[in-house]
Amino acid sequence: MDFHVTYSESQQRFRAEVAQWLADVVPSELLGSNEHFENRDAYELRRDLGRSLGARGWLYPMAPPEYGGGGLDLDAALVVAEELRRLGLGLPPYYDSGGVLGSASILHWGTDEQKAELLPPIYRGEQRTWQLLTEPSAGSDVAAVATTAVRDGDDYLISGQKSFIGSLHGADAHWALVRTGPAEDRHHNLSWFMIDGSSAGITITPQHLLGGIDKNTIFLDEVRVPAGRLVGGENKGWQVAFTHLDHEHGLRSDRFLGQELHRAWERIVEGIADPASGVSTDDPVVVDLLAKIYVKKETVRLLGKRNYWLAMENRPRTYEGPQGYYLEKKTTQWLASALLELFGGAATANVFAGDAGAALVEQQALGAMAMHGGGTGEIQKLIMSRALRLGKPATSASAPE
Ligand SMILES: Cc1cc2nc3c(=O)[nH]c(=O)nc-3n(C[C@H](O)[C@H](O)[C@H](O)COP(=O)(O)OP(=O)(O)OC[C@H]3O[C@@H](n4cnc5c(N)ncnc54)[C@H](O)[C@@H]3O)c2cc1C
Repeated sequence: MDFHVTYSESQQRFRAEVAQWLADVVPSELLGSNEHFENRDAYELRRDLGRSLGARGWLYPMAPPEYGGGGLDLDAALVVAEELRRLGLGLPPYYDSGGVLGSASILHWGTDEQKAELLPPIYRGEQRTWQLLTEPSAGSDVAAVATTAVRDGDDYLISGQKSFIGSLHGADAHWALVRTGPAEDRHHNLSWFMIDGSSAGITITPQHLLGGIDKNTIFLDEVRVPAGRLVGGENKGWQVAFTHLDHEHGLRSDRFLGQELHRAWERIVEGIADPASGVSTDDPVVVDLLAKIYVKKETVRLLGKRNYWLAMENRPRTYEGPQGYYLEKKTTQWLASALLELFGGAATANVFAGDAGAALVEQQALGAMAMHGGGTGEIQKLIMSRALRLGKPATSASAPE
């Protein structure tokens, strides 16, 4: 069987065009940099790059051109993403995962007016958006959110608290899942709002996680939101949320690049090249372990690529997204012990200092523990079993219960 991927002549021409354009516009400071740990200057450079990609239609290559997307086909979108990955960059960018996920819901559930108003700033890279789902008592069980929206004339007033939100350097907009109906009407009491980030009543406080990950707690105190920013209708928020949750559970466009594990792999290769590591590739045990790491990271990447294809081509799917996401979470945890086995004590020494200043194995282990964004491993298993309707009569099921 031939696994070699071939590209048509026009795809190769397009790849050369993208590569040249990126060589011209990507600032050297961003090459291979890690967006999780960047300072304000690097973040602003990344935003500028996002705007340049957006103006070219390559930030959201497959999104409808009438709303600012590129209107390209899947093969072309993959070429753009792969060329960005070659430079250590993601597409659409990590810094705007809220935009990636929120725009999918707006495109599906928004009115024509809402699409025309809300999508272009996201697709053109002019706006960064954070997603406001989790609350202190609503994480895995996100339908239990207690933040409320109360109608007040032509507006809603939103009050409550959201946690584990965003990253560094603020956001221009937020979308939020909030309660608009009685608590007992579970799944039928939620609404989905787009909120202007500069609205009065929003307080953001930093929340530092294991592994040097920066998140925020956001307090909303009677934040006034026009009724026109309610997407999908009052008490219909669970359906709207299901669209982006489906994407977040392993179908997200940035997942297929397998960027995080690839980054870890590159640091392993660098570490081995360092004589201080004392690791020799003449040792068959080392070769065996390296092969295992490589195969696992590639399996995660290829499942991600399959899932992206399923989502973008709108193919039927059941367990595939959470399957890939689950494997990524588990591989990330496994890698911490594999690093210790590979490098021994040197893995804990500063010679392998990572982006957050921690030793390689420490950062891998702590980062893996904090990898419950988008739902924990248990929740991915739960979604898979529900999607496969384990214990229930077989049917194609990817809708909420
Ligand atoms: C890096 C990171 C980024 C994040 N980004 C965002 C963001 O941008 N926006 C946002 O809104 N949220 C975000 N989150 C929050 C994330 O979605 C939640 O942390 C996650 O859903 C788990 O919720 P929880 O922390 O409240 O844990 P809990 O729900 O309290 O779970 C605690 C434990 O119980 C287990 N558990 C819970 N229910 C079940 C069940 N039914 N069956 C089996 N086991 C179960 C869980 O697996 C877990 O081990 C982020 C979190 C992290 C760590």
